[in-house]
Amino acid sequence: MATLRVAPKPTPATMKVAQISKPGTAFQIVEREIPEPRAGEVRIKVLACGVCHSDVLTKEGLMPGIEYPRIPGHEVVGVVDEVGAGVSTWEKGQRVGVGWHGGHDNTCRECRRGDFRHCKNQKIAGISYDGGYQQYMLAPMEALAAIPKTLSDAEAAPLLCAGVTTYGAIRSSGALPGDLVAVQGIGGLGHLGVQFASKFGYKVAAIGRGSENAALAKKLGASIYIDSEAANAAAELQRLGGAKAIVATAPSSKAMSALIDGLGPNGKLIVIGATSDPIEVTPIQLIFGSHEIHGWAAGPPSESEDTLNFAELTGVRPMIETYPLEKAEEAYARMMSGKAQFRVVLTM
Ligand SMILES: [Zn+2]
Ligand SMILES: [Zn+2]
Repeated sequence: MATLRVAPKPTPATMKVAQISKPGTAFQIVEREIPEPRAGEVRIKVLACGVCHSDVLTKEGLMPGIEYPRIPGHEVVGVVDEVGAGVSTWEKGQRVGVGWHGGHDNTCRECRRGDFRHCKNQKIAGISYDGGYQQYMLAPMEALAAIPKTLSDAEAAPLLCAGVTTYGAIRSSGALPGDLVAVQGIGGLGHLGVQFASKFGYKVAAIGRGSENAALAKKLGASIYIDSEAANAAAELQRLGGAKAIVATAPSSKAMSALIDGLGPNGKLIVIGATSDPIEVTPIQLIFGSHEIHGWAAGPPSESEDTLNFAELTGVRPMIETYPLEKAEEAYARMMSGKAQFRVVLTM
């Protein structure tokens, strides 16, 4: 009697995605065909994707040139599922991440100088192409970062935007071990900033509004907590000798302006909380004490890997709330409410 050969079950040809069909509308959960990677691309089976405030750009159409429908998400962790032609540096089964820096052209003047973070044609995951709010995603091979073994998918995800931004900003500050470094804002960025600054060996002053974050700030590694509602934070920093660096994470230009006088000699205000209203500063405030104001954005995949490896080494972890992909709308609303403790992550 002939045996009936049962063919192996084909991989499902469709996947679930959470897309924005038009600016200003709610997430739609729809089925799409699983895409095939083109030359130079990998396909990632997404396992987790962080929900970042910058996803508002895609949700509300705040950046020119976004094509809709578009799938947001630039804190992506997954496993390489398929590679396109010409991809030799990544292989199937490898765990990888994609952050805000979603690709570069390798040919512009900045790239030729090795300054990939300032590529003239930088791509952004979830803006230039579909991001991580889906089960499978395509990404250019140069956008990938390797994820260390001991980090969970959901904990690694926020490190690819919030993490690399705070890590890089503080690392660029020029502060030396033992120097006073202040982190303004105990939120999605700040709770990571306090941990990184503490593990870098700084004396960390966390600046928050109200007394309720004091215990948490200390637990995250701050030596000092300054309640900016109860005290003049700049004066408090001066009392401690002046800050070598102040990392401003809360998107309030008014709060940032108020902190400039807390800088010590050669101190630097590093701005990572994005707003469009002006920071107010007088030349006198900059001239005396040789103060600097310095902006910082996420960073290329090599910096993501530095961040992830440092987190693995030192135990820095984001505090997260997870939601299934199907609840993208609820997860996004939770992030926008500012009440999440502290990063929202979708799991697939
Ligand atoms: Zn982000
Ligand atoms: Zn370039």
